Amino acid sequence: CGIVAYVGHREACPLVIKGLKRLEYRGYDSAGVALLNGDDPTAPGLQIYKKKGKVSALEQELVGKALHSTIGMGHTRWATHGEPNDVNAHPHYSFHKKIAIIHNGIIENYATIKETLVRKGHTFTSQTDTEVLGQFIEDIWENAGGGLEDAVRSALQEVVGAYAIVVMNAADPTQLVAARKGSPLVIGVGEGEYFFASDASPIIEYTKDVIYLNEYEIATVKDGKLTIVTLDNAKTTPYVQKIEMELEA
Ligand code: GLU
Repeated sequence: CGIVAYVGHREACPLVIKGLKRLEYRGYDSAGVALLNGDDPTAPGLQIYKKKGKVSALEQELVGKALHSTIGMGHTRWATHGEPNDVNAHPHYSFHKKIAIIHNGIIENYATIKETLVRKGHTFTSQTDTEVLGQFIEDIWENAGGGLEDAVRSALQEVVGAYAIVVMNAADPTQLVAARKGSPLVIGVGEGEYFFASDASPIIEYTKDVIYLNEYEIATVKDGKLTIVTLDNAKTTPYVQKIEMELEA
């Protein structure tokens, strides 16, 4: 039910955890984070930690782990498909672990998409609609070529339902791809850093410059640059506004 993501120069993990706590009021049954420890040879690729229960339970899970990453994303889940447990908590890996995904909302036609993927030999670790979307995006990316943002766009053209999503690329520690339809998503624009969140409360501590992503828009940060396109791949000019919001202690 809550999304926080970061890419920039700060340590992502504590920032994401703090952001998730600011979103706790929205209600949730489990929480998780994904990090990319590209510079740690003992832990290459995407790392996902998730736990049923409170964000504080997730924090316990993180104690003693190598969490250095300047990119990361976190999620608080309000289960709609699959019971609340560690496995169904987000983030979810794709089939070949090339991406990780977090999602708020419901993919209504997930069963149809899942059937097609199962016929292609895919197996699933969770009962969620979200894992299906993640595997679908990766499958398109592997087969169609092009960028991850193109694969996200193609996948979402087939999706019926509501979503705010953020996708991380295991091969690119500078990239986040986010999209929304029916669920909110705010982008914070800092100095060489970007934030994504369900509302501005996790962001305002760092920047007052925000963009409210519109319905059917896909935002990509890559190499420090933000681009926003529509589901039909028309480039849009982001409207950055100053937010006036009091930060509660
Ligand atoms: N439908 C997804 C799930 O059940 C996302 C739920 C949410 O919005 O937190 O895992």
